[in-house]
Amino acid sequence: MDTQDLPTPTTRPAPGQLLFEAPRRGKPPRHLADLSPAERKRAVTESGLPGFRAAQLSKHYFARLVDDPAQWTDVPAALREDLHKALFPRLMTAVREITCDGGTTRKTLWRLHDGALVESVLMRYPDRVTMCVSSQAGCGMNCPFCATGQAGLTRNLSTAEIVEQVVAGARELARGEVPGGTGRVSNVVFMGMGEPMANYKAVIEAVRRLTDPAPDGLGLSQRHVTVSTVGLVPAIEKLTAEQLNVTLAVSLHAPDDELRDELVPVNTRWKVGEVLGAAWDYAHTTKRRVSVEYALIRDINDQAWRADLLGKRLKGKLAHVNLIPLNPTPGSKWTASRPEDADAFVRTLEAYGVPVTVRDTRGREIDGACGQLAATA
Ligand code: SAH
Repeated sequence: MDTQDLPTPTTRPAPGQLLFEAPRRGKPPRHLADLSPAERKRAVTESGLPGFRAAQLSKHYFARLVDDPAQWTDVPAALREDLHKALFPRLMTAVREITCDGGTTRKTLWRLHDGALVESVLMRYPDRVTMCVSSQAGCGMNCPFCATGQAGLTRNLSTAEIVEQVVAGARELARGEVPGGTGRVSNVVFMGMGEPMANYKAVIEAVRRLTDPAPDGLGLSQRHVTVSTVGLVPAIEKLTAEQLNVTLAVSLHAPDDELRDELVPVNTRWKVGEVLGAAWDYAHTTKRRVSVEYALIRDINDQAWRADLLGKRLKGKLAHVNLIPLNPTPGSKWTASRPEDADAFVRTLEAYGVPVTVRDTRGREIDGACGQLAATA
């Protein structure tokens, strides 16, 4: 690659600065996974081939996880190269893969066509495999406790760049490369780099590719896809109208506006009450519990009175709280709560009848845990 194709490094955002519009850069090349089944058919017929070739390619990619034209034995050899060139450009290259937990947690650093870097994490549990994917290179939401937020926003990912992260994990599992035998991806969480609701269109299309039944898509259950957001209220409202039964996660981190303005700067636009209001509308429409994410930060947001205020706000709502002990990022002045404070926080929420779990922090040693994804090559 020519060095002038590399993205100019993003500058670190000033405290509280928000970036909603991603910088425009050369678009990633079009890939089969960017297209709906109808668009795939059109792409194939426009190049003078019968439409059924699109369904064949979808089957190879989404059902068989194969994009090597040599293995498309039902496609005439003379057509394979052209189809491959037109619909399967190389979108990303693995720069590094680091594993921990005996190989069942795997973080991959990807270099995209323009040099932008993103990370994805595969986590295998006894009963499921979760892929944590990035939706943007960097992030414009500038949360001061999050490594990605500190690096700023480089660009939005395309639908296919998101889907390919999941397909890459699916291939590793299908080939038996992840300890535990061959397997499949069962869950996807948009909790890698980026704010998914700031790259709305590409993310929704990616959700469709992931959840359309095979061979149109990967065939995951919508309920097993989680979209996590800082709380972009208009986008949450739009999502409510999509009739997608994905799980919505809201990164709350504080029950009061004063602290949330600092921890999640987008709160200066949409307040705690508005974000939770949009979340309850989503819950009522989809009948799905909203996941409230709360990173416990010692002496910052873990006081008894904040647990009490959170309990009051969530009491009786379709909500589940995920408490995440803060993963300190390099140079951070903050650290995780004391275990006794975390326990007291849990008990207070439970006293309000609010379901709560303390999330495990898989991938900590490989900087693959929540908020640690920073894409340094
Ligand atoms: N932008 C989206 C999704 C990416 S972050 C969002 O904010 O929801 C995924 C989750 O990790 C969010 O809940 C985020 O607040 C949390 N997180 C970020 N940095 C963290 C850290 N250092 N420790 C623990 N959780 C963190």
